[in-house]
This record gives sequence, structure tokens and C-alpha cells, in this order.
Amino acid sequence: MGVCPSARMALLRDNFTGLLHPWARPEVLTCTSWGAPIIWDGTFDPAVAQREALQQNLTIGLTVFAVGRYLEKYLARFLETAEQHFMVGQRVVYYVFTERPDAVPRVALAPGRLLRVERVARERRWQDVSMQRMHTLHEALGGRLGREARFVFCMDVDQYFHGAFGPEALAESVAQLHSWHYRWPRWLLPYERDARSAAALAPGEGDFYYHAAVFGGSVAALRGLTAHCAQGQRRDRELGLEARWHDESHLNKFFWLHKPAKVLSPEFCWSPDIGSRAEIRRPRLLWAPKDYALLRD
Ligand code: UDP
Ligand code: MN
Repeated sequence: MGVCPSARMALLRDNFTGLLHPWARPEVLTCTSWGAPIIWDGTFDPAVAQREALQQNLTIGLTVFAVGRYLEKYLARFLETAEQHFMVGQRVVYYVFTERPDAVPRVALAPGRLLRVERVARERRWQDVSMQRMHTLHEALGGRLGREARFVFCMDVDQYFHGAFGPEALAESVAQLHSWHYRWPRWLLPYERDARSAAALAPGEGDFYYHAAVFGGSVAALRGLTAHCAQGQRRDRELGLEARWHDESHLNKFFWLHKPAKVLSPEFCWSPDIGSRAEIRRPRLLWAPKDYALLRD
């Protein structure tokens, strides 16, 4: 993989880059075919991104769902490590969605950061909890969250921050390369293949396989994304279908049709089970261990 020559163009078009050295990582792809930066450690200057973001006086939202046993198992560590690493020095508003607001752990927040808890109904199946997020996020983005924040990241709770996750990750729309799939040939990627599904990608379609555990963007872009995915899920359900990887399949369809403005390398959401790899220098989020028997009965 080489350095994409249009990385310079992406640099000019992008808002919060601090993207200085796309050529600093010649061993990995640092730019997509449509000119969006793929950010890897060393390709951006976090101090520049921080300054650019502060100049714009941003509020950045971070949404996370913690329903059922996911709350006790993951939420405290997710929030505590977010305080250490997520957009440190910026104004941040966390939105925690849960069916048990009283059980949300009290985490000490730095000045300029606040946490809001929103009540959601508990779906019976874990797949439905996961998919229902798109509809709930769509509504929240149309309400207080959308008024409060300029940019929002939407994340899974079954992970924790391990390194700085700062404004270099911000853009109009942001997708995360899936750590298990970023080296796979396109034909092997686990897209939905049933042509009847709204999430279907035909052979030859698809740029990358994106991980639904992290996506972000402006409020307007995320309104569009969540509407698209929620509608696709509803259409599938009416046909008695469910996409292979649920909301993630619909997210992948969305980003095929509407290319992300920025792509995060697998360093931003890494699975430690993969082991060490030379190109993964500084993981920013790590997948937490999953006890399926405990979480999904
Ligand atoms: N989730 C939840 N309770 C559930 C199922 C899912 O809170 O019973 C939320 C949680 O934020 C979780 C996300 O939905 O991280 C996606 O589900 P999961 O992480 O289990 O999916 P996977 O990453 O394994 O595809
Ligand atoms: Mn997950």
C-alpha cells in the first residue's frame, strides 16, 4: 500500500485535520480513492487539531447505549477512560441511553464536560437493542443533543479508551475501519448479500468494511445516516428480513452510497485478540472482553 497522492487535497478540504504528514506512514493506505484521509498515528498533529477545534469553540457529543447487563459490565470503564482520553480539553456532552437511569455510575467529570442520561425501552433481543439505536439516535439528534453539539461520535459500550482520541478524528462524516477486516480482500468482506435487503451490496461494491462501534460526524450528517439505517431496518423487518450484521450492515450500505469525509485507521478501535501488528502503533480504543453467555441470553 502506498501514499495516495490526493492526500494533499484532503488536507486542504478538511476542517480538523492537523493532518500534516500523510506520507509519514508509507506502509499503510492514508487516503481513500475519493480523497478522504485515513488517519493513522503519525499522519496528524494532535496539537494542531486541538487548536483548530478550540478556535471553533465546539461542543462534541458522545453517545453510548448501556441496556441490560451491558451497563454493569462496561459503562463505568467506558466513561472513566473517556474522561482520560476522549476530546480532552474540549467541551463534551455524554449521552447515555439506558432503561435504568438510576444505575448509571457516577463518574467524576472534568470542567466543561457533562453527562446526560436518556431513558430507552429495553428490547427483548440483543440484535434489536443494537438496531434500535439508529432510530433513538435519530430522534436525539433532532432534539437536545442536536442543539447542544456540533459534532457527535456514536460508540458501542463494550470497549474502553486506551490512548488519546482527539479532534483529529472530527469531520463532517467519520467511519471506522474494522480491525478484523481491514486487510481482507473486498470479495470476502461480510456485507449483507441478500439482494432483497436494504443493506445489500452487490459483488464488486463496497470500499472498506466499517465497524459500527464507532461512527461520527456533524449533526446534519448523522441525522441523514441514522434516518437511512433506521428506514432500511424497518423495510427489512416488514419483509421478514434481518441483515447479517444488523445495524452495521446498514451502516456499511450508507457509507458505500455516501462516502465518509474521514476514515479512522484500526488504531482507533483495536481488538487486542488480534495480537500485535507493526502498523498498529497506538490503539485509542480497545475492545473489552465479551462474555457472550452472560450478555446474550
Ligand atoms: N447493547 C446494549 N445492550 C444489549 C445489546 C447491545 O447496551 O443487550 C448496546 C451496547 O452499547 C453494545 C451495542 O449495543 O456495545 C452493540 O451491541 P454489541 O456490542 O453486543 O454488538 P457487537 O459489537 O458484538 O456486534
Ligand atoms: Mn460491540
